[in-house]
Amino acid sequence: MNAARAAAAYRRQFGSEPALLVRAPGRVNLIGEHTDYNDGFVLPCAIDRDTVVAAGLADDGRLRSVAADFAGEDDDCNMSSGFAAARHGWADYVRGVAAVLCEAGLAPGGARLAIAGNVPLGSGLSSSASLEIAVGSALARLGGSEIDPDRLAQLAQRAENEHVGCQCGIMDQMIAARGIAGHALLIDCRSLVCRAVPLPSDAAVIIAHSGVRHAHAGGEYNDRRRQCEDAARHFGVAALRDLDLTTLERGGAGLDPVVLRRARHVVTENARALAAADALAAGDLPAMGELMAASHLSMRDDFEITVPAVDELVAVMQAAIGPAGGARMTGGGFGGCAVGLVPRDRADAVCNAIAQGYRAPDGSAAEVFVCSATGGVSLA
Ligand code: ADP
Ligand code: MG
Repeated sequence: MNAARAAAAYRRQFGSEPALLVRAPGRVNLIGEHTDYNDGFVLPCAIDRDTVVAAGLADDGRLRSVAADFAGEDDDCNMSSGFAAARHGWADYVRGVAAVLCEAGLAPGGARLAIAGNVPLGSGLSSSASLEIAVGSALARLGGSEIDPDRLAQLAQRAENEHVGCQCGIMDQMIAARGIAGHALLIDCRSLVCRAVPLPSDAAVIIAHSGVRHAHAGGEYNDRRRQCEDAARHFGVAALRDLDLTTLERGGAGLDPVVLRRARHVVTENARALAAADALAAGDLPAMGELMAASHLSMRDDFEITVPAVDELVAVMQAAIGPAGGARMTGGGFGGCAVGLVPRDRADAVCNAIAQGYRAPDGSAAEVFVCSATGGVSLA
């Protein structure tokens, strides 16, 4: 569906057939929140919602792109220079990825791109990384190289950091580049070593949107990053990944209590992400559920990135799931989605409970997606 829409938008805008179609998925993080930029562990899976880029070479030295999901808005800039901020927000991602690929010598001389996706925007399912990875892979292929997925993820992260102004970690780009169907990926965000963790065959991934939208490039996220850096400096470690709970509890004197709580979230969340990978690999959904519940409380009380609507949504899901699985907020916070992991035969009951028991602040019901784990970037 996205591929057909992207190809149609390409034809309409540029009057020719695209040379290739590349898709990259959104993702849901099962556990390990705000650990990525602390060199820690995350456990996301790629989901069956993606962004497709229809792409073709151009010999005029320009990068022209069109966004089917933004009423056909278009963007035009010089491919080898002129990567200033764009008129449309979405085009900053495209220009940013093109800029870092140019620097790396991986971009073509000129290109045409048409974009269409169905990852919900600004919902914590990382539409931005799916866009970056699809654009990056498409441009690199047009430029003649099939880029290594880790390298692609790092370049895309740099594009979002430097050209969009969001200091995101590496998780979203890594899972969009390296996801494996039927698996979550335990990513060591320091070494980028990944361990594929099979999801239990009877597990369903339920994602429910709270109806509260976040502005991810905004200040709260960057504030949390700064607080984590302050804590790491206080404890004399390179990153909070290197801190254990005992050292944290003994050495907190003199540190701002808010910063100390931020650090406690990261330290305990890293331990939970590692334990969760083992629980999932063992097919132990009840143990996974306990870890997800603890993760949510830590995000609510120590990291303070949940909002009341999300707390309520998670409570509704947890009540419906019981001890058979679990639920927590997922994504950067301040709104967005909750994720539940449940035995498949309970998925309908949980969806019904959300429909009955949750209302967003504007009175609407939650949008719910029952997802499966898909593979990373590929030709569409
Ligand atoms: P999230 O990554 O959680 O979905 P972000 O705020 O990080 O939220 O990224 C959302 C932004 O990414 C959108 O506002 C838009 O600029 C860009 N984007 C994502 N998907 C698309 C798309 N299909 N077409 C155009 N731009 C997109
Ligand atoms: Mg994003």
